[in-house]
Amino acid sequence: MPAGDAEYHETLNVFFDVDGTLITWDNKIRPQVREVFQQIKDDGHDIYIWSGVGIRHEVVDRHELHGWVSGLYRKPLYDYRARLHEFTPIVPDFIIDDYPEIVSDFSAGRQGGVQIRPPIWPMTNDTEMWRVYEAFAKHVRRLRRGDEASPQ
Ligand SMILES: [Mg+2]
Repeated sequence: MPAGDAEYHETLNVFFDVDGTLITWDNKIRPQVREVFQQIKDDGHDIYIWSGVGIRHEVVDRHELHGWVSGLYRKPLYDYRARLHEFTPIVPDFIIDDYPEIVSDFSAGRQGGVQIRPPIWPMTNDTEMWRVYEAFAKHVRRLRRGDEASPQ
């Protein structure tokens, strides 16, 4: 697909949580996950999946997400930013999580994030993944404005 609103001149690292973010309580994948992953890749960015429960190979396997995902990590459950280096060598630029605290911890300076609403039945009406994409695009617009304000 053509590049979308979140296209940027740098590759950003986009981190997705798993439970309550990409999958439901009964392990179903949320609607539009693959479409939004494809758009983020076509915009030039890298996608990572992390989870407080562990490295979730089984989720990537079951839902066949390998083609979009650049890495899998464990996620800190407290002191997120301070303990990040214990969990991943990749610095997140934008995170998506159903848990608000980690989102606010990572929303500072050039980093950002958005809280995703947990999946609610009926899932066919769930458009959260595209709302998340729009929030990411808004973050990228902020980065572009910052670039203009302080040329390097
Ligand atoms: Mg979660």
